[in-house]
Amino acid sequence: MSTIFSKIINKEIPSDIVFEDTNCIAFKDINPISSTHILIVPKKEIPTINDIEKSDRELMGHLLYIAKKIAKKLQIDKNGYRLIFNCNNDGGQTVYHIHMHLVAGRKFSWPPG
Ligand code: 5GP
Repeated sequence: MSTIFSKIINKEIPSDIVFEDTNCIAFKDINPISSTHILIVPKKEIPTINDIEKSDRELMGHLLYIAKKIAKKLQIDKNGYRLIFNCNNDGGQTVYHIHMHLVAGRKFSWPPG
């Protein structure tokens, strides 16, 4: 089932887009947890990490590559950043269209709460 992210991908609702290509889109999170909080979203509708198929391997690797490119462009690569996929309820997922969080701008604790 489509989510709000499909509407963002289709430009039916606005977002602050930082990167886009044929396979993915990256935009600022509406409720950021840090000064940099970007969501990197494949245009293909995949509900959760559990639903990734063998044929999605290149796409998933692409998301990581784009995360690295964005981090360099925003000059957060040296200080560092965190990449997160939340999966289902215990993982804290709220939007069921997979997305990678790219967060930076402060020191994050480990382990997460
Ligand atoms: P999740 O909890 O599923 O891992 O992450 C979903 C993220 O999407 C949340 O951080 C939330 O703030 C963000 N989000 C939800 N709706 C919107 C929206 O309409 N626009 C933007 N830019 N971010 C959204």
